[in-house]
Amino acid sequence: MRIAIGQLWQETNTLNPLATTRADFEQFGICRGDDLVTQMADVNELGGFIQAMRAWPGPPEIAGLVRLPAWPSGTATAECFKWLRREFFGAVEAAGNVDAFLLALHGAMVAQGQPDVEGAILQELRERSGPDVPIVATLDLHTNITREMVRAADVLVTYHSMPHVDIFETGQRGAEALRRMLFEGAKPTTAFCKIPAVVPPENSNTEADAGIAVELKRRVVELEKMSNILSAGIAPVQPWMDIPQFGSSVVVTTDNDPAAARAACVSVAEEFWRRRREYMPTLVSVEDAVRLAHEESGLTVLSDAADATTSGAPGDSVWILAELLKYRWPREALVTVVAPEVVEQCAGVVPGTQLTVSLGGLRDNRFGKSIELDVTVERTFDARFTMTGHIGKNMPIDMGRSVVLRHASNTLVIVTTRTGPHFAPELFRAAGFEPFEASVVIAKSPCGFRAVYAGHAAGIYSVKAPGCAPSDFWNHDFKNIPRPLWPWDDIEQWTPAEGLLQK
Ligand SMILES: [Zn+2]
Repeated sequence: MRIAIGQLWQETNTLNPLATTRADFEQFGICRGDDLVTQMADVNELGGFIQAMRAWPGPPEIAGLVRLPAWPSGTATAECFKWLRREFFGAVEAAGNVDAFLLALHGAMVAQGQPDVEGAILQELRERSGPDVPIVATLDLHTNITREMVRAADVLVTYHSMPHVDIFETGQRGAEALRRMLFEGAKPTTAFCKIPAVVPPENSNTEADAGIAVELKRRVVELEKMSNILSAGIAPVQPWMDIPQFGSSVVVTTDNDPAAARAACVSVAEEFWRRRREYMPTLVSVEDAVRLAHEESGLTVLSDAADATTSGAPGDSVWILAELLKYRWPREALVTVVAPEVVEQCAGVVPGTQLTVSLGGLRDNRFGKSIELDVTVERTFDARFTMTGHIGKNMPIDMGRSVVLRHASNTLVIVTTRTGPHFAPELFRAAGFEPFEASVVIAKSPCGFRAVYAGHAAGIYSVKAPGCAPSDFWNHDFKNIPRPLWPWDDIEQWTPAEGLLQK
């Protein structure tokens, strides 16, 4: 038996003015064929696929297609999508005959002229491979599942956890659904419900002690333990995509039991809809958040959700940084900014040199502002590390040449060439700081940062600053979304039957 595996991974934020290009994928790390199987054997979903299949009785031959990853950012160019399609189907053709496809997709990628990249890829794969070759795909929790994706794939398997600490395990779950199809003759029947609601990510922590996200995760995990269910997932979509078919989703696939798929899907969708307001976060102004951090003796983490690089924002917001400079911090206040020009400006500069730099407002020229500040160049370093935790298991990250700038307020600005996980402790450590011992850490992440900081922080605040991933997204003008859509619109009555698709 021969199983083809591959990956297309990018989360698009259409509010971000920076287009995602072929170069972003090439820089992040493409691998193909046998190299993919060797290099990804313990990394993210692909690692989960590979290790799960190697444990099957009579392990199959694994044919590596291609891994196409890029960090979350703006809409991909039409040219980039054309190239991705060519790369992907070129790899499919090169692989020849296979017994099944097992794919790791993000599920929220948008390109110019193609608002549903993964739906288009799955649809074309189905057309090329015919109706009988199993296609199983894993998806991020923030995927925008479309009818095309549901129709083309046999089973869709979403992450259960936010922070995304179950990526490898999701790969294993995808492989298990495929194993049941191939070895036990399982016949997937799917119920999919599109819910006309989009929720902010702050309260979507499934790993907290209690709350709506914890309870809904528990429900889908329990469903998946039932012997007739191949997969059950709830996907509160990431909110910054101005596209048709936009909304949260529930998808349940059973082994030849359409009534059970429908009942489970309707029940979970109904609960999400009824309790959607519980996702609304409490936000603190920039001024109040920084003042509260200054009053706290332990570590305070300020979540700059609107500039979350994990949400596809550009990463050069200085709204919180500007406020930090007004105080004097007993231990470091750690802030990250993406600014290749400033890294360039500091190239070859001797540590200890004082200079004036301009930060912000370049990458995000919609909501950003720029400030000038006098700093001392502390050191330069390569922001290169392996990330495990939210978003990655053993995932290699390279944000390029970077520089640490010290301001008199004891604010340390870590300037990177490229975007990436601008919350990860590994980044601060690569820069020479232990984030858990700082006075303040600005996490450019709305929720995922909690996985690693919750146990170390005396205070955590969700800050309301301007940016491309605003928590109050419904106050922005979206032109292409389906209406009515909550919370842009009040919807008096809705029942899951209205959003249901069965196959
Ligand atoms: Zn996500």
